[in-house]
Amino acid sequence: MHDLLPDDETLFEHVVSTATRVARSFDYHLVRTPIVEDARVFLRTAGDDSDIVSKEMYVFEDRGGDRLALRPEGTAGVARAYLEHGMASRPQPVRLFYWGPFFRYDRPQAGRYRQLHQFGVECIGDPSPEADVEVIELQREIYRALGLTDLVLRVNSIGTPATRRAYEEALREHFRPHLATLSADSRRRFETNVLRILDSKEDAAHEALRTAPSILEHLSVEDMAHWDRVCALLDELDIAYEVDARIVRGLDYYTHTVWEFEPRAAGGQSTVGAGGRYDGLIEAIGGPPTPGVGWATGIERLMLNLTAAELAPVAPPLDAVTVPLGADGAAACARVAASLRAAGFAVRNGTPGRSMRAALRAADASGARFAVIIGDREAAAGTVQLKPLVGGGEQVEMPVLEVPTRLRDAQA
Ligand code: ATP
Ligand code: MG
Repeated sequence: MHDLLPDDETLFEHVVSTATRVARSFDYHLVRTPIVEDARVFLRTAGDDSDIVSKEMYVFEDRGGDRLALRPEGTAGVARAYLEHGMASRPQPVRLFYWGPFFRYDRPQAGRYRQLHQFGVECIGDPSPEADVEVIELQREIYRALGLTDLVLRVNSIGTPATRRAYEEALREHFRPHLATLSADSRRRFETNVLRILDSKEDAAHEALRTAPSILEHLSVEDMAHWDRVCALLDELDIAYEVDARIVRGLDYYTHTVWEFEPRAAGGQSTVGAGGRYDGLIEAIGGPPTPGVGWATGIERLMLNLTAAELAPVAPPLDAVTVPLGADGAAACARVAASLRAAGFAVRNGTPGRSMRAALRAADASGARFAVIIGDREAAAGTVQLKPLVGGGEQVEMPVLEVPTRLRDAQA
């Protein structure tokens, strides 16, 4: 697990506020679910053979003997909240977004942490291909608003569980002769959930994965109608995509449309965001059959990509730093700083008792736009020496009351 330090904050906040603004513009509403859920919320939905359940979930017993989990993903908790709060009786679909920390006992490396942050959206109660494309469009708009325009969208359909059973037979036939050269993980998946072999990271480069039959050839007529409509809508909205029959996603609850956004030059930790339709999920946690579709994006992965592309914003500068000099300067500086903050400026109060040289050096290093210097003489006269610290300009003495106007003028 890692710390997010003040230097990371501007970028983190930029990602969350940009994503929030775009989500709101699509009429999505923030839902905050607890970080801890009954473990069954995830155990019943993600699938025994998913990475999350099989090796990544933090599970513990609380003092009352209940089995709880640190949430590894967002969808199941949001679906639980949808059920618990009777959102099915609201006009459908219900459009929700969330962001916050998630926990996975993953192998730590760049872009892969045990506490990660995700931003995600869920559109619950609408079975139509239009809903799939709405959330994909929303996701693409967020990446666009951040300036990430070179992500590749890879889309696939995995049909319904019934469709998949026929496909799984074909897949087993295909992989059987290769079992000896596949990883132990894939050999296990061959028995428990053969589809998952396609999602294997270890065997990603294995010949047998590239030559595997496509699930698209096994879709039923209804599956195909949904899939064709998704593709047609993406075309209509000018959303570029590639069809990739190997995208099956790591969780059992997905049906029909699944997708991932990845940078063009892809590596192992590269998927920036991924989503899918999950028509079986709400039933799996005890609700009535309810369709849904959504995605999640890794905030740290976005931060890495934005930094690499030099798209990270710089922190807004501090407006002013006070420089208290002499015996009376400190009290006057504290008063001026308080009145400037009340006027909406960000002000650091300088440390008293330093030499003029040391105090000005600290002021320079603060990154502030202005130094507000007050010695005994200024304190007595009700004035300050206002010294621009960036872009040159003369130091001028002025009444305290004029400082806010001067700072504001300089901002414009
Ligand atoms: P991966 O294939 O990289 O393990 P995943 O399929 O487990 O990803 P999802 O469950 O779809 O990932 O989560 C959505 C997004 O969350 C991912 O696309 C990625 O950006 C991010 N993410 C997933 N796991 C981690 C992690 N351990 N650390 C940081 N970000 C992560
Ligand atoms: Mg994973």
